[in-house]
Parts: sequence; C-alpha cells; structure tokens
Amino acid sequence: MDIEVVEGDITAQEVDAVVNAANRRMRGGGGVDGAIHRAGGPEVLADCVRRFPAGLATGDAGWTTAGLMPAHWVIHVVGPNHNAGETDRSLLTSCYRRALEVADELGARSVAFPLVSAGVYGWPREDAVDAALETLRATQTQVEVARMVAFGRSAYELIAGRL
Ligand code: ADP
Repeated sequence: MDIEVVEGDITAQEVDAVVNAANRRMRGGGGVDGAIHRAGGPEVLADCVRRFPAGLATGDAGWTTAGLMPAHWVIHVVGPNHNAGETDRSLLTSCYRRALEVADELGARSVAFPLVSAGVYGWPREDAVDAALETLRATQTQVEVARMVAFGRSAYELIAGRL
C-alpha cells in the first residue's frame, strides 16, 4: 500500500472511502465529523441511525454511505478521547487497523484518513501521526492508496516529515 499526504479538506477527496473521526454516539459532531455530515448531507446521518442504533465503541469502525461527497463510503472510527483520560494507545491504532478491515470488506482501494483524535480529543499531534503511519504500514490490506489528509500547513509539514 502507498501512503501519501495531501493538505486539504477530506470531504473533497476523490477516493473510494473517507474516514471520519466520529464519536461513540455516531450522530454527528464538530471538527471533521461536522464537515463530513455537512458535505455528505442528511443521508449520512440517516445511515448512521440505521446502522448504529447503539453507536460504536472506541477503537472500532463501521461504514455508511458518503451521500453527496465524491467518495462512495464513509468509514467512521471512534478515536480515544485523550482529554477525557482515554490514553490507551492501542485504542488509537485500532482505529486505523479496523478502518482498513472495513475498507477490505467494502472493496475500497483508496482511502483518505484524517488525523484521528488529534483535534478536540487532544491526542498529542506527533504521536497521533506516528500511530497512524505505524499502523498503516503494519496492516495487511487490499487497499492500494492510503491518503493522509492534513488540515492546514503545519499538519502537512508534520506528517510529511514523518512519512
Ligand atoms: P477528534 O475528536 O478525533 O480529535 P477532530 O475532528 O476534532 O476529531 O480532529 C481530528 C483531525 O481532523 C484534526 O487534526 C483536525 O484538524 C482535522 N480536521 C478537521 N476538519 C477537517 C477536514 N475538513 N478535513 C480534514 N481534516 C480535518
């Protein structure tokens, strides 16, 4: 699998699947979650309600339609909330591993990822990047391209410097 980094907005990526940094309720939220629900339109929330009546556990992944976005699917992951004391790193690496497993179930060959947990959830950014890259490199998958989407120049430089 090729791992690449671009600076931009994940909702505009022309890939098979975009990954969302969701929360356990799976009913939308702020940050990248809000951006994905806005860009995808109400079908994304309707599919979340249908597929995840009880939400999703931290570290787990599941998919919905991508609605109006160019991607076919959203793969939702729930990152650990470092600010709330969820500091077990395996919960973060699990998000990337599970996202690739779901991508394989869907037959997705290109997947765009945000920096899970590195926003409101407060995971230290350098380690969030290292956890992402380490796990993407170590996971066996049919996915051919993993695209890290950096939101802003400093995130881009951080990821590119560790790639
Ligand atoms: P979390 O609650 O998992 O920390 P956030 O959405 O607050 O999730 O932040 C996760 C990462 O997504 C942060 O690095 C943030 O800068 C980034 N982000 C926010 N909006 C977008 C977007 N539209 N495209 C790509 N990344 C985004």
